[in-house]
Amino acid sequence: MLWLVFTTGACNLRCTYCGGSFEPHVVPWRVTYDINKLRHLVENDKDATVIFYGGEPLLNPGFIMRVMDNVKARRFGIQTNGTLVNLLPRDYWSRMDVVLLSIDGREDVTDANRGRGVYRTVVNAFNYLRNTGVGRIIARMTVTELTDIYKDVTQLLSIGFDYVHWQLNVIWTDRWDVKTWADNNYLPGIRKLVDLFLKKAEEGRVLGIVPILGVLSAYLFKPYEGPPCGAGYRAVAVSTDGRVLACPIAVRERWAILGNVNNGFKLMNIRLPERCMKCELRPYCGGRCLYALMEGERYWGKDDIEVVDYITRETIKSILTIAPRIKELTNKGVIRNHELMYDPVLDSTEVIP
Ligand code: SF4
Ligand code: SF4
Repeated sequence: MLWLVFTTGACNLRCTYCGGSFEPHVVPWRVTYDINKLRHLVENDKDATVIFYGGEPLLNPGFIMRVMDNVKARRFGIQTNGTLVNLLPRDYWSRMDVVLLSIDGREDVTDANRGRGVYRTVVNAFNYLRNTGVGRIIARMTVTELTDIYKDVTQLLSIGFDYVHWQLNVIWTDRWDVKTWADNNYLPGIRKLVDLFLKKAEEGRVLGIVPILGVLSAYLFKPYEGPPCGAGYRAVAVSTDGRVLACPIAVRERWAILGNVNNGFKLMNIRLPERCMKCELRPYCGGRCLYALMEGERYWGKDDIEVVDYITRETIKSILTIAPRIKELTNKGVIRNHELMYDPVLDSTEVIP
């Protein structure tokens, strides 16, 4: 199971789509529970992946070190903005199985969203981490109307990131004309990425483009039972106040509270809406995002939620066009099955942007 462990509600950046720190009464800026309670819960899970989360998790490096020294987990990782990597000693980095660095693609796009100089800082962090013995390094993009998905993803792969994943800046942001942008820019870019993925696969190389891998993996091996992130049924978030939540974004929502580190918690039975239950793409999508299913209409209204769903469908359909050929390539041994097997819960990615 995936454990997203908040180390703080504070963040040192103020990105355009996020707004920075949580208010301390929502997610305290320091951990207020006994770490032994967390240890007890995590060590009952033989397949625990612990990912440090925030705010910016590296604002509380002492807690990260205490957890890594005292809690046994199968995998450790972190989702960080990459600006404070020097706050954690090198030998802790070498024990991280996965590091997700937030970067939005090309320098001008990243800096416009995240602040001047952030791109360079994150690339320097990437180069430093590469030499520490960290397992896989994933670029985690937020996709906005500034994004050219083909150019930005290929740019990050050319830097040497093992995987690139992204999320669309939709629903928890002000509404924008996402449909026009998707038709003119994003969806044609997705088709180009899918073509590139196939071209490289024909040459025997599997590109680490998470949304493509995640959908192909569901096609080839195991369909998703619910949202691929695992929210509430294969993944939980532990807030700094000890609440165990179904999703790390749902820090204010009562439905998301599964329990508490002190008293234990209960996983959810994921029930998808009828629209998803009838959808032919459900095995590859799993309903996309629990939070959006629960709260999406409140933020963006029914019509704009339909637009997001249209983008999801078109993205998945694009990827599925190459699925039969990819299967043939695995049968012929051009690419290997294990290179296509992707479990998002091991990396704390969501698969469907
Ligand atoms: S594509 Fe849309 S309707 Fe279909 S499963 Fe995903 S979220 Fe549900
Ligand atoms: S994809 Fe949705 S449900 Fe899953 S972790 Fe992200 S916000 Fe939460």
